[in-house]
Amino acid sequence: MKWSARLATIAGIDIKVHATFLLVLALGAYEWGGSGGWQGAAFGMLLMVLLFASVALHELGHSLVAKAVGVRVREIILLPIGGVAMMTGRPKKALHELLIALAGPAVNVVLALGLGAVSIAGLWTGVFDMSALTSKGMLDPSLSTLVTWLLTANVTLAIFNMLPAFPMDGGRVLRAGLSMMVGYETASRFASRLGQVLAIALGGYGLMAGNPMLALIGVFVFLGASQERAADTIRSVLSGLHAADVVERPSVTLTAWQRVGDVARMMIGMPQRYYPVLRGEQLVGVMSRDAIMAVVGAGGADIAIDQVMDDKVPTVQASDTLESVLETLASAGARVALVVDENGWVGLLSQSHAIQAASMLHALQRPGDGPSDANRARIIEALRRI
Ligand SMILES: [Zn+2]
Repeated sequence: MKWSARLATIAGIDIKVHATFLLVLALGAYEWGGSGGWQGAAFGMLLMVLLFASVALHELGHSLVAKAVGVRVREIILLPIGGVAMMTGRPKKALHELLIALAGPAVNVVLALGLGAVSIAGLWTGVFDMSALTSKGMLDPSLSTLVTWLLTANVTLAIFNMLPAFPMDGGRVLRAGLSMMVGYETASRFASRLGQVLAIALGGYGLMAGNPMLALIGVFVFLGASQERAADTIRSVLSGLHAADVVERPSVTLTAWQRVGDVARMMIGMPQRYYPVLRGEQLVGVMSRDAIMAVVGAGGADIAIDQVMDDKVPTVQASDTLESVLETLASAGARVALVVDENGWVGLLSQSHAIQAASMLHALQRPGDGPSDANRARIIEALRRI
């Protein structure tokens, strides 16, 4: 994500913070600086940093469990509205989704328990005084305020995230738990509907109680639940198609020693976007039309294709689902994959083509049709006839 800086790398996962975090720091300084002067402002900023550390640990909880069950985590980004662990792919088993979703709030529960123990010890020994627990006391910079405030924040994080609505962790916990009993499709439909109902209730209550923040959270939750439903539909379409169904069999291939300029001339007016590059019988890389034009534009018309081709194209099996092809492309940061079967290379499959094919398939699916094999075969037949 643009405008973000890396803070640390833990277990191979980059933890980044977005530039807008400075706004949160300013808010903390403003909130506590009013009564406490510059000392108060510094204290407010410290609280915001600690809050975000709690959020980062929450996301790290999700990420470490995800890694342990074989889901790749690219990075964690801390935004003013909270943290996001960017994962490529999704857990294959409901139990794995359940564990990943629970791990985040569990971290906040552990932190809250630890801070609770510190508070009790503080009160017991007289280091803390009870005035920190009043709303006025919460604005005085002190160790007891810090611990109490952070304890409240972690309890709130745990409870809020366990609301059974997407995009909160509770929505995922509910879906994973239900799908062990009634299957993924039904569980996901139920969880996203419940999320929408809860969002409307939350938003409605917020409006009636004159709490705009709560109303805004309602809108945010409603959008999250709707997005999850859309993502599910796309997933079921993508997992119903295989690379072999939509593979692009390029009519033109290039030879490793060809000059870029000659290739560019030949390409004019050709619809093909990606060209396999062969050395003898063997496929050694892929060259895109855009890359050819860029090389020509930079004055490289005399360069041989194999000097500028992409020779790190990810390989997928013809029997892979489109969902897994897109995951492979995303985690490799590539636009096109090489499709192979037991006899060698079959063709290419680009991200844009895979998505286009899936959206056509979706448009052709009649409402209520499941991703059954018979239905899939019928739709692929229909696609072939177009
Ligand atoms: Zn979470």
